[in-house]
Amino acid sequence: MSKAIPETAPAVIIGGGIIGMSTLYHLAHRGVPAVLIERRKIASGTTWHAAGIVGQLRDSTAQTELGKYTARLFRDLEEETGQSTGYKQNGTINISLSDVRHEQLLRTHDHAARMGIPSHILSPQEVKEHWPALVIDDVQSGLFVPSNGQVNPLDVTIALSKGARQKGAQVFEGTKVERLEIRDGKVVGVVTDKGIIATDQVLIAGGMWSHLFGKSHGITVPLHAAEHFYVVTEPVAGLPSTQPILNIVEERNYWKEDAGKILIGGFEAQGKAWAKDGIPEDFEFDELPFDMEHVEEDLMRMFARMPSLEGLGIKTFFNGPESFTPDGRPYMGPVPDVKGAFLATGMNSNGILNSGGTGLTLAEWMIDGRPSRSMAPLLAARAHPFQANTRYNQDRAAESVGFHYGINWAGRQVHSARGVRRVPLHQQLKTAGAVMAERIGWEVPMYYDAENPEWSDSPSLRWKPWSEQVKQECLAARDAAVLLDQSMYAKILVQGPDAARALNHVCGA
Ligand SMILES: Cc1cc2nc3c(=O)[nH]c(=O)nc-3n(C[C@H](O)[C@H](O)[C@H](O)COP(=O)(O)OP(=O)(O)OC[C@H]3O[C@@H](n4cnc5c(N)ncnc54)[C@H](O)[C@@H]3O)c2cc1C
Repeated sequence: MSKAIPETAPAVIIGGGIIGMSTLYHLAHRGVPAVLIERRKIASGTTWHAAGIVGQLRDSTAQTELGKYTARLFRDLEEETGQSTGYKQNGTINISLSDVRHEQLLRTHDHAARMGIPSHILSPQEVKEHWPALVIDDVQSGLFVPSNGQVNPLDVTIALSKGARQKGAQVFEGTKVERLEIRDGKVVGVVTDKGIIATDQVLIAGGMWSHLFGKSHGITVPLHAAEHFYVVTEPVAGLPSTQPILNIVEERNYWKEDAGKILIGGFEAQGKAWAKDGIPEDFEFDELPFDMEHVEEDLMRMFARMPSLEGLGIKTFFNGPESFTPDGRPYMGPVPDVKGAFLATGMNSNGILNSGGTGLTLAEWMIDGRPSRSMAPLLAARAHPFQANTRYNQDRAAESVGFHYGINWAGRQVHSARGVRRVPLHQQLKTAGAVMAERIGWEVPMYYDAENPEWSDSPSLRWKPWSEQVKQECLAARDAAVLLDQSMYAKILVQGPDAARALNHVCGA
């Protein structure tokens, strides 16, 4: 007979993917025996089919901290729980095919040193020593991070579950959370299809289900599912299990050894949103049809990079859904308007490498009231009410797939879901030659150039195509006068007897 769900719990976690399970594990290790509710089987959403690459260096210190801790946790998890995790530190090699990307690798090498993660710059020849069949004519350099690696995500989730249950946590599979009980702006319980659990803390870790679940409670969780593809070759004779993972962001693909075969995955510039009419109720360990036409160009690039692939043959064509967010970053931490509700979701295909750090950080947030490291770029509180719009998330998620690879630079602009928020003078600004960029849904004039009204998409880490116009604006501000339209900024009304004292406290000068 299956165990009855408890009437009360110190905290309830919704979702038994790697993120929910890691949080359960870390709460239990801090002495909080929380309860995890999973609608089907653990890891049966997105987690089971992940490629399992664990890279640590991300584009913010906050996410790098998450990855760094995850790598440390995975090293010890198997020994602690007795459950194998398939973890190996075979390292990653990122290669550059252009000057911009080469400069980025040098900067990442520097970032790695600051974060205490050893890394080495490789010559094209050294790259070829690791991947002998690779065409390297146009390779400029490589960045090798020996402590990165790969893991079996399903086994890790089982290990985390085991480690959590050994410390008193409980896991209920085949149980669906139907809604939260919220009273006077506070969580007081969770209603499941097997009964109600009274609790004052809830973590929504429901992966791609989180958007609609949050929305039904007035909680904004901006994300939508998009398709993610990979292929796996037939067994490759002589392929060492220590083969480092290869990332070629300019060609939008990653390569890894996978039980004697090569797994190659891609992040197309424009992905495909999935389940626009909702996720099927019976979704469990499911995969999606492989769309050959959609990824053909990406596959051709892989074959050109390693012509011997032709002779190897492809054994598996895989497509699975993952949630992507409008800015490519996860949502973590307390929900501003509902006391006791937390988010850890929207992993943008980084959920395995984020998992350990996310679980640790959420456990700190839920127990101590704050995390021990800054998570500013990842805060759940950055969600704006307009981002509860499902169509907006669907349109952007398809483009967010492309944020993952390609060259990330300060002038990179989004092209989807534009024009969501416009200032009253929008048309006048356009007529005056304003070139617009998107900032949290707003169309913001960045500079004026009536002759070239289109934003330049060509990446540059130094002087930008618009730097000259910006220089002229700065000189005008110094020597003459400028008029800035900042009507898109938030307005805060501070009123009451202590208003002046409070403002003097928070405002410099
Ligand atoms: C093809 C592919 C390859 C990938 N490769 C990598 C990689 O190499 N490295 C990496 O870091 N990441 C990778 N990822 C991404 C990674 O798999 C995800 O980011 C991660 O698994 C997300 O975990 P999660 O716990 O947030 O979501 P999920 O695993 O989807 O878990 C959410 C769970 O919540 C449950 N749930 C939802 N609503 C409810 C409810 N109301 N009641 C009860 N339960 C509920 C669901 O059933 C589900 O099991 C890859 C993804 C794909 C698709």
